[in-house]
Amino acid sequence: MNSLPATANSNTPVVSLEKLKETDGSFKGMASGLLEDVMKGNPYFAAGGGLMLLGTGLALLKSGITRVSGLAYRQMLVDLEIPSKDKSYLWFLEWMSQYKHRSSRHLSVETNYTQHNNGSISTSFSLVPGPGKHLIKYEGAWMLINRERSGKLLDMTNGTPFETITLTTLYRDRNKFPSLLEEAKRMALKTREGKTVIYTSWGQEWRPFGQPRMKRLIDSVVLDKGIKESIIDDVQDFLTSGQWYHDRGIPYRRGYLLYGPPGSGKTSFIQSLAGYLDYNICILNLSETNLTDDRLNYLMNHIPERSILLLEDVDAAFNKRSQTDEKGYSSGVTFSGLLNALDGVASAEEMLTFMTSNHPERLDPALLRPGRVDYKVLIDNASIYQIERMFLRFYGETHRELCDEFLEQFKTLGLPTVSAAQLQGLFVYNKRDPKKAIEMVEVLKQPNHVF
Ligand code: ADP
Repeated sequence: MNSLPATANSNTPVVSLEKLKETDGSFKGMASGLLEDVMKGNPYFAAGGGLMLLGTGLALLKSGITRVSGLAYRQMLVDLEIPSKDKSYLWFLEWMSQYKHRSSRHLSVETNYTQHNNGSISTSFSLVPGPGKHLIKYEGAWMLINRERSGKLLDMTNGTPFETITLTTLYRDRNKFPSLLEEAKRMALKTREGKTVIYTSWGQEWRPFGQPRMKRLIDSVVLDKGIKESIIDDVQDFLTSGQWYHDRGIPYRRGYLLYGPPGSGKTSFIQSLAGYLDYNICILNLSETNLTDDRLNYLMNHIPERSILLLEDVDAAFNKRSQTDEKGYSSGVTFSGLLNALDGVASAEEMLTFMTSNHPERLDPALLRPGRVDYKVLIDNASIYQIERMFLRFYGETHRELCDEFLEQFKTLGLPTVSAAQLQGLFVYNKRDPKKAIEMVEVLKQPNHVF
């Protein structure tokens, strides 16, 4: 038999042995001859081969274009990535929300609550660029801004998705990035200038709570004679003694405890002190149920620079816990966890901790050891000296006679204990009328009087 079986139909390639013999006899020669025969003999095969070649060619072309465009992209464009963990992330968003030369179709709203000293809350909204692409022109350079949310990665500490902002611009405009970031930083710091930022814990990190507040003037808090001055002196001495601490290998930290009845000005004084020193305040609520010892330790070791750590009502956190244990819930921080965190703060920067308590007698002596609390001071109900100073601060030094009259009237009441907060209530109620305040002096006998 010198041909393939006759069952093959007319489309089946039929290769004669003669053809094979025409080759040079090598396997390669035979194979190429065979291929040529198959291609020529079968139109489908020939068309398929052509398509295959075309497909391969296109794929090569595509990958070539991708490579060339990737190369061109790398040569001509530059990216800057700002991850949400970085400080400049919030600065940049703030800057973008104010920037006029931009086209954004995706906006996100950010609501800020600000609690004022008198307790009122005001709300403000700002429209920041939302996830997606935005185009801006900055100092003549076009920039594409891509705010991306990682769909899968979550910040486990606070449940928010990780985000990145990528800025892309032409290579020649790359020097605009530093100036843009600098501008964003300047703008952010300017809104904080002359203000105190209050940080609260948010998961495992510190986040500003509301907008920065106006600094509280140190003179607006009236404490008994000499108390304010001695605390300020002590703090200032500490802040200028870094080298002394380092030379002696002592951790550079100092703890203060302000104790006394409510409404005597403990918190207000710490706020005004922060303003005076140009510091911010980090408030930790030890009663927060989802605050664990580990988180407390981490937070205390990662306090934003130039900040006072404020632990309010330290007695309440642990007393409440022992009472509530039977009821089935407890605060996450243990007392030993707090002591460890206080002892373990290992910061090169200074660490100023202020604690407040209305019931110092309930505090465990272990907390009051030097190194944890180095300076204790009673901030008590208003003394005659304070009442006088507060009257004159509210109505002006010119009303000295009225002030004497007020004090006389107050003494006739039998010198009731009165908090500075109560006095403030009376004076605010009679803002422009000191005589009316004298007439109403009797209300000071009722600590819970509502004006
Ligand atoms: P505390 O922390 O001792 O409970 P706060 O500082 O919260 O007291 O004071 C409550 C309110 O009373 C604030 O509005 C504050 O302005 C006012 N106040 C309390 N004490 C003083 C003080 N010594 N001087 C001026 N204002 C005071």
